[in-house]
Amino acid sequence: GGEGDSPVIKAINKAVVHRISSGQVILDLSSAVKELVENSLDAGATSIEISLKEYGEEHFKVIDNGCGISPSNFQALALKHHTSKIADFSDLHTLTTFGFRGEALSSLCALGKLTVETRTKNEFVGTHLTFDHSGLVTNERKTARQVGTTVTVEKLFSTLPVRSKEFSRNIRREYGKLVSLLNAYAIIARGIRLLCTNSTSRSSKTVVLKTQGSSSIKDNIITVFGLNTFQCLEPLSLCISEGCTIEGFLSKPGCGSGRNLGDRQYFYVNGRPVDMPKVSKLVNELYRLSNAKQYPIAILNFIIPTTSYDVNVTPDKRKMFFSDEDSLLRSLRAAIEKIYSPHQCSYSTNKIK
Ligand code: ADP
Ligand code: MG
Repeated sequence: GGEGDSPVIKAINKAVVHRISSGQVILDLSSAVKELVENSLDAGATSIEISLKEYGEEHFKVIDNGCGISPSNFQALALKHHTSKIADFSDLHTLTTFGFRGEALSSLCALGKLTVETRTKNEFVGTHLTFDHSGLVTNERKTARQVGTTVTVEKLFSTLPVRSKEFSRNIRREYGKLVSLLNAYAIIARGIRLLCTNSTSRSSKTVVLKTQGSSSIKDNIITVFGLNTFQCLEPLSLCISEGCTIEGFLSKPGCGSGRNLGDRQYFYVNGRPVDMPKVSKLVNELYRLSNAKQYPIAILNFIIPTTSYDVNVTPDKRKMFFSDEDSLLRSLRAAIEKIYSPHQCSYSTNKIK
């Protein structure tokens, strides 16, 4: 055969590449809203409102009272890999913000219609910005608003036809997952008022979640799950080594949640909600020693040095690499066995702060 038989290797159109990679950062409704809520937390907000239309299918909005975005940053705001949070790779070792890759807003632009309203304390009026799918500002006008930022995403996934159909079909499940995720933030966020509302064409605005901005995790748990459920929990505070502790709550042996596997289990690393399938498995396995009929509620915050893990594992930042995962799991196992051993009759009385 001639040279023509071998297909030519060509670059894919940039806009297409952007859309494809954005679909890996923003997997679903909850990862989209998670990115916006984390931006609000990074901006120092003490009040964050999540407003959904048709369970998020029409639009979702995150309204905060954080520091706002200054006009000098408008053009770069939704450009891929533009961030105010890290400048260098080494900054990842001491990361204290949720965001760091500058991908969320650019990805949301690629997947739907993004608008931003914002004002810093240095401006007298706010600005309303609209963006195109490549992250460029298409319109800018003045608007009245308080200091803070509102980010709105309309018609998420409308640029990915297959995902868009799935999204509409599964919207109630997506919404359920989102509410569970917001619970994770509501529990761990101290001193931050969270409000989530949903409105549909058939019913007016309903409150999905509302916290008071309490400074204690205990109050947050009571707000999210109710006092009865809280009374079924055992506080846990475990020193593993210098600078390493695990704090949280677990169901007492006799009163698990009785629901599905992994339901009402929330894991955090230094207050960052993450997926910890190994920890979940361990907790469930040990709980079964004393209660085979139910699953435990688990709320565990791993307070460990920022140098001992890597958050840069998956685009949605829900997975982590730990430098010494085995010893973490071993210590956790030992502590939980004390609570769940069938022969144990007195619980650990360590108090969480
Ligand atoms: P990252 O959070 O990784 O920096 P994002 O795309 O989520 O990337 O956000 C880009 C930048 O936009 C942030 O670095 C921040 O400077 C700014 N920003 C986004 N959301 C907000 C917000 N709610 N309040 C203030 N600044 C924001
Ligand atoms: Mg971000």
